[in-house]
Amino acid sequence: MNLDNIRIVLVNTSHPGNIGGVARAMKNMGLSRLYLVEPRQYPHEKATWRAASALDVLEGAVVTGALDEAIADCQFVVGTSARGRRIPWPLLDPRHCAERVADLSGREQVAILFGREDRGLTNEELKVCNLHLNIPTSAHYSSLNLAMAVQIVCYELRMLLDADRLSAAEDAQWDAAFATRDNMERFYIHLEETLIDIGFLDPAAPRQLMARLRRLYSRVRLDEMELNILRGILTETQKFAPRDDGLKVD
Ligand code: SAH
Repeated sequence: MNLDNIRIVLVNTSHPGNIGGVARAMKNMGLSRLYLVEPRQYPHEKATWRAASALDVLEGAVVTGALDEAIADCQFVVGTSARGRRIPWPLLDPRHCAERVADLSGREQVAILFGREDRGLTNEELKVCNLHLNIPTSAHYSSLNLAMAVQIVCYELRMLLDADRLSAAEDAQWDAAFATRDNMERFYIHLEETLIDIGFLDPAAPRQLMARLRRLYSRVRLDEMELNILRGILTETQKFAPRDDGLKVD
């Protein structure tokens, strides 16, 4: 994913405060490319005020006279709409849309369009888009404030970016390989034997004990080192267990 290849395009925004709010929402999430298509009042002190420490995003905004100019070099365009299927079109929620956009942004220019506070995007504008995005809301009030809608869409992109980084860091930092299926199977056999040896598991009435223990360990995902520790504990435990195979004296 490359956030620098994703631009936020505001079409014909009425309230300059919203433009500032959008700049801030973007910067908080690590996006910086803002396009303003025919803003009704811009520049404006209310935009500056609402942008707070995102003045760089606001000042770097590209102002155009028409939507075409703002998206001419884009290979993929997403149109956001407060109303669900206004025209039949591929429609995604922010999370699934972010997955698509994140993937494409590695090699393509992507634009996400946001409409006017009073009327949203026109049908003509929505028809330019490859995909429509709708933020799920209460049926009683589906229209979010413009900057808040931008915030949610950018947040979902941010989550994917951080998830990428976290899982890469987690794998890189882990000091042992995760246990193979084979070794897990050997562990479960050893565990079952031990539980029988110590009289905790009755082989005549095993119930769901082993299934539940398997579920427990598979939730944790053991690494090889942890697995060896547990196997060691089982081996030592077995030494103390009374066995009925005649090996034990008393
Ligand atoms: N009354 C307009 C809503 C405008 S809200 C309409 O019915 O379309 C201003 C902009 O915020 C919208 O054009 C859209 O870009 C975004 N937005 C607001 N609520 C949204 C939602 N639930 N899903 C997707 N985008 C939304």
